[in-house]
Amino acid sequence: MGELKNTFSWSFSAAEDFEQCRRRRYWSKYGMWGGWGRNASPEQKAAYRLCKMDNRWGLMGQAAENAIMWVLKQHQQGVPVDATAGWEQVARPFLTRKWNESSEGSWRHSPKQFCCLREHYYKTMDDENAAKRQVAAQVQNCIENFIDKVLPRIGSISPGQEFRIATPEQGGDVEHFFYEGVKIYSIPDYAYTIGDEVHIHDWKAGKIKAEQHRLQLSLYALWAIVKHGATLDKIFLYVEYLNEGQVLPFQLTEEDMEETQSLMSDSVGEMTEYLVDCDRDKNEPLPKEEWELTFDPANCGQCNFYEFCRPELERLR
Ligand code: SF4
Repeated sequence: MGELKNTFSWSFSAAEDFEQCRRRRYWSKYGMWGGWGRNASPEQKAAYRLCKMDNRWGLMGQAAENAIMWVLKQHQQGVPVDATAGWEQVARPFLTRKWNESSEGSWRHSPKQFCCLREHYYKTMDDENAAKRQVAAQVQNCIENFIDKVLPRIGSISPGQEFRIATPEQGGDVEHFFYEGVKIYSIPDYAYTIGDEVHIHDWKAGKIKAEQHRLQLSLYALWAIVKHGATLDKIFLYVEYLNEGQVLPFQLTEEDMEETQSLMSDSVGEMTEYLVDCDRDKNEPLPKEEWELTFDPANCGQCNFYEFCRPELERLR
């Protein structure tokens, strides 16, 4: 296999990272690159390990999503299942495995294969059993709400109507499209067609953040237009707040899409300024020191790369 190339790319989460802290974007896109290799430097290896780190809220979202997609697939095959089955057969084993991997430290040898929770790594969990109970209760609630409130709306969709979406769990490159020559990562949770309509759902196991989520889904609309030739007036978007049992359904106007495209262009332009010669083809980062630390120290509290910045942050205090 040829050497992997670190290509310039953009995604909604990359833009959020970059907005909150330039240095975080440096570590997660450039500092970690090659950190999986035997000959990587200790810094590259550590950055790669930290980059792969998860947290309990991320795990909660994955567990809920795995379980509801299993429930949906069972339903499509004519096997009705209840929330307990979704929890016992999918979410609970997943959470137990990941939590154990993290507390046992298997990730030290293979950060890609095994889960490392930020809460374990930085020892930020006061009461681990209470944290586990909270995650379990929220996941179970999400599965119940999915069965009660979402499944009746989407249960008649057949596998033939669904889009195949490349996720990180499948290995290989994840779902993306190219827009104005830039690789855009965009991974809708669930999308399907009804005639010439495209319907896209995003599962949210956490809090309602309507404005942020509308923006995120507008990128999925662009994915449907660019990659699948959809037309804007035929795209229907749904943010499914599983814990609350609420849905935010909406469509976008041409003005909304222009706003999304201009946000993307601005963000891509700013990221480009942090590259040598502003050359996205070479995609070589400026030295780490040029990527500023965050202006808001509150961002550091939830950041995987805190151990790298701690000495600098302490000097600045
Ligand atoms: S710890 Fe703070 S300064 Fe360092 S990368 Fe994270 S957010 Fe940025």
